[in-house]
Amino acid sequence: MNVLVINCGSSSLKFQLINAENEELIAKGLCERIGIEGSQLVYSPTGGEKVTKVVPMPDHTAAVKLVLDALCDKETGVVKSLDEINAVGHRIVHGGEKFAVSTLLTDEVIKGIEECNDLAPLHNPANLIGINACKELMPGVPMVGVFDTAFHQTMPREAYIYGIPYEYYTKYKIRRYGFHGTSHAYVSRRAAELLGKSYEDCKIIVCHLGNGASVSAVKNGKCVDTSMGLTPLEGLIMGTRSGDLDPAIIEFIAKKENKSIDEIMTILNKESGVLGISGGLSSDFRDLEGAHDKGDEAGTRALETFSYRVAKYIGAYMVAMNGVDAICFTAGVGENSPFVRAVICEKYLPFMGIKLDTEANNKRGEDIIISTNEQGPKVMVIPTNEELMIARDTYALTK
Ligand code: AMP
Repeated sequence: MNVLVINCGSSSLKFQLINAENEELIAKGLCERIGIEGSQLVYSPTGGEKVTKVVPMPDHTAAVKLVLDALCDKETGVVKSLDEINAVGHRIVHGGEKFAVSTLLTDEVIKGIEECNDLAPLHNPANLIGINACKELMPGVPMVGVFDTAFHQTMPREAYIYGIPYEYYTKYKIRRYGFHGTSHAYVSRRAAELLGKSYEDCKIIVCHLGNGASVSAVKNGKCVDTSMGLTPLEGLIMGTRSGDLDPAIIEFIAKKENKSIDEIMTILNKESGVLGISGGLSSDFRDLEGAHDKGDEAGTRALETFSYRVAKYIGAYMVAMNGVDAICFTAGVGENSPFVRAVICEKYLPFMGIKLDTEANNKRGEDIIISTNEQGPKVMVIPTNEELMIARDTYALTK
């Protein structure tokens, strides 16, 4: 059974076709600049040559049509006809409190996703456009929604309630939701396998460190806390997002710089994080590490501040779970930066008895335990695979 996994952004669409039975990737690709001049499709069949097509894509329906044509193409395609695409799994950013698990996309469920739009005004409408485009072009093919927020719905109330008047929760559902849930679910499950323990019997901290970054505490197979909040702005310092700060800073900057709330939110989302801390040097950790290696203080400042915040969350989540068996690193920075992993573990967490194996820490692209200590938590690198999780859930609900 083949599952098409779709991840739709406002002007982009990423896709993978996965054989859900043996979990092999059949093809993957990306449509960029949808609705903008210069749109293109990049399509990579597994084991075949990459194909790049610069073609106008006025909307997402046009993009999905091009993807389906590429998958069925006589020469470079991977299936004979659309009949070989048996189900579609959609990544959906915000499921609010409505969706605690992946769900078959009925008309009623789609309406429920629309009702979550004001919680993720940039993301959910784009996800819905992708759903509608697939519905139009593949009528009758079952579709499943997999929510970034779902995995975190198991958090206890004390972890998701904010210290503001309770009526804002009851009236507007203002609470911690958390994001990257599909990644946290995949990595924590895999960590239990590497520990050789039952998922229902371990305490795992997952550090998803990419351009967006979040930490989660997973106890006995359930998320008990996570660092992102109502929106993905809270928590860790990220590529360009501020993460946690004193809310009074917003008013302070507004007055000093004569800026509106909208302008300040743009600064906190797009001009802050390691980009802001480094004085505008870069949001990319490769650039920051390069600068640090050359003795540029701006790079060191950003990397240390970022790593310290991650370490602080690890400490907090040990309290949330009364201990920890494994600390896992994943996503762009977590998977690829031995430097950041070493700073977090060796500079800030030596009290936990963690000893890193330098050779293992320098490896890339595999699930690996990078610590050597017998006592205390194991440290792991686990490349995330959100698409595979989406395919698994889609398969489970449609087979
Ligand atoms: P993601 O959002 O998970 O795709 O992560 C993207 C980020 O990963 C980039 O912005 C880089 O900062 C970071 N990254 C990718 N490769 C490396 C690397 N080799 N070393 C350090 N950071 C990296």
